[in-house]
Amino acid sequence: MIDLIAFAKTYVAARGKFLDAARARGLSVDSRENAAVKGPEGEALYGDVVQLGNPQAPHRLLMVSATHGIEGYCGSAAQIDFLNGPQADLAGEDLSIVLLHANNPYGFAWGRRVNEDNVDLNRNFVDFNAPLPENSGYANIRRAIVPKSLDEEALKEANKAITEFGKRHGFDRVQEAITRGQYHDAEGLYYGGTFPTWSNKNLRDVIRTYIAGADKAALIDFHTGLGPYGYGEIITEYEKTDPNYLRASRWYNGEATSTIGGDSSSVALTGTTDLAFHDELPDITATAIALEFGTVPSNEVFAATRADNWIHLHDRPGTLQWDEVKKQIRHAFYQEKDDWKKMVLERSREVINMTVHGLKGED
Ligand SMILES: [Zn+2]
Repeated sequence: MIDLIAFAKTYVAARGKFLDAARARGLSVDSRENAAVKGPEGEALYGDVVQLGNPQAPHRLLMVSATHGIEGYCGSAAQIDFLNGPQADLAGEDLSIVLLHANNPYGFAWGRRVNEDNVDLNRNFVDFNAPLPENSGYANIRRAIVPKSLDEEALKEANKAITEFGKRHGFDRVQEAITRGQYHDAEGLYYGGTFPTWSNKNLRDVIRTYIAGADKAALIDFHTGLGPYGYGEIITEYEKTDPNYLRASRWYNGEATSTIGGDSSSVALTGTTDLAFHDELPDITATAIALEFGTVPSNEVFAATRADNWIHLHDRPGTLQWDEVKKQIRHAFYQEKDDWKKMVLERSREVINMTVHGLKGED
């Protein structure tokens, strides 16, 4: 049985559903406020953590939602569906399951992919003591990624520059230039930042508090906005020869893709969440995936993300344009349709099962 009640209309509603589901299971909630910022209605913003099963269990699974704020509608629903359904009983003496709900609550509440620092959290896990990664392709088409205006003429010009870059260098290079991550344009897209953000530190602390000490651990980080409509791609950032990739490939019946290996709908990225997982768990057999659900074609996702960046730089809440763009970006990362929601929950359940099976197995 799939019940779509797990999906919410706002960050506050999603959090309410999550807290209700946790209480119904008798779980205590570790609420971590990002006190530096508030939501659009002045509401307090939290990442909330619950743990099921034995806290000292040898096998532990961490599931994270809203790494990319607005994508949290999907991951939050998967977490609430998990708590409301029979899969929660998978946790026990040998297996602990930890849910981190809304790790980028600012982005979730404000309907943004990025956080309060305009940082893409899934590019923020780099070593800030080392030279920051370069992305020369981004610099090449920066004026098309961060246009001066959202007027038809300006966008036509911008899209033309992107098409020309694609014709010269290949369209894979366009995706790479835009999405791989960049560390020099604080007002741009896919900006990885210059310091560990609140959500970065919070994720690391959750891993240290709840997952360190396990023998085997797994991470499922929920995302949307890439790949075919409603399909949940199991993405890894491992080389295909990496033992971590080979393990993921076995756990997920050959379905795990590799961004570096070139068979993912994502290009290879810098500073992704899985790096924190491995950093904080150096002596543990750890397997980290992103579960990425497709929504609309990638050019629409890009247009929405670019427009959202523009309004936060140049406009303010309440204008007609602001509301239009907020609708546009919501549609790009959250498909409010029953078939999509059903696909999300069915696939999430399936991937959770495969992950638990893998954690408990000999592999
Ligand atoms: Zn994402």
